Amino acid sequence: MVAELLQPGGVMALKQLGLESCLGDFESASLSAFYVMRGADNGIYAPFPEGHEARAFEHGSFVMALRDRARRAPNVDFIETTVTALIENEDERVVGVSTCQAGGQPESYFADLVVVADGGLSKFRTAVLGHMPYEPSQMGYLAGLLVKDLTLPVAKCATMIVLKGAGPVVLYELPNNECRMLVEFKEPPADLKVCNSVLYDRDHV
Ligand SMILES: Cc1cc2nc3c(=O)[nH]c(=O)nc-3n(C[C@H](O)[C@H](O)[C@H](O)COP(=O)(O)OP(=O)(O)OC[C@H]3O[C@@H](n4cnc5c(N)ncnc54)[C@H](O)[C@@H]3O)c2cc1C
Repeated sequence: MVAELLQPGGVMALKQLGLESCLGDFESASLSAFYVMRGADNGIYAPFPEGHEARAFEHGSFVMALRDRARRAPNVDFIETTVTALIENEDERVVGVSTCQAGGQPESYFADLVVVADGGLSKFRTAVLGHMPYEPSQMGYLAGLLVKDLTLPVAKCATMIVLKGAGPVVLYELPNNECRMLVEFKEPPADLKVCNSVLYDRDHV
């Protein structure tokens, strides 16, 4: 369920980068607005700007489409390995990475420009940026359900339900007549398989 709802800004960024075709290689659902409900009250319809849409899809297919485009670009070598350390020169500039594959020998790679993009749980953030003014902390857990044959209040809208004393519930359509339902918990229910926790500090998002 990670990153399966690409907001209009993301769709627009892909267009600007000439990578829009990465969205065309697999099934996706187009969404044109958010519909925000508080309890059973009438909702607020918040459409995206004219000509803009969000897209919902299976994240893995999208990432593989991006990787495939990167692979086909000239001068790209694709190496799947784990970075164990950043290599710095005498001026403390990052000039390369040390890596190790499972069961393999350590290797080093060097480049004029090293881009570190190892995600929200980055091991290298502090090494590159120094200590942040705040430490990320775990504020809750997101449960993701797949619901079949569900009719949402407004078609092609991501629905957000604001509940008293609880986190919001978000629903959106996916391809294949499925809907994603995201529910935020303070503590994970004991019988729920925890796949991915939400790591963020609400005061700083
Ligand atoms: C539950 C959940 C739901 C989300 N839903 C959405 C959503 O619907 N829409 C949305 O836009 N965003 C969503 N997000 C946020 C989105 O997933 C992130 O913003 C996005 O994935 C960040 O991309 P990234 O490339 O920086 O990091 P990542 O996607 O985390 O990619 C980092 C990559 O680096 C690799 N890596 C890490 N360490 C090393 C290492 N030492 N050596 C080699 N490789 C390494 C990892 O394996 C991974 O492939 C969601 C996040 C979560 C947790």
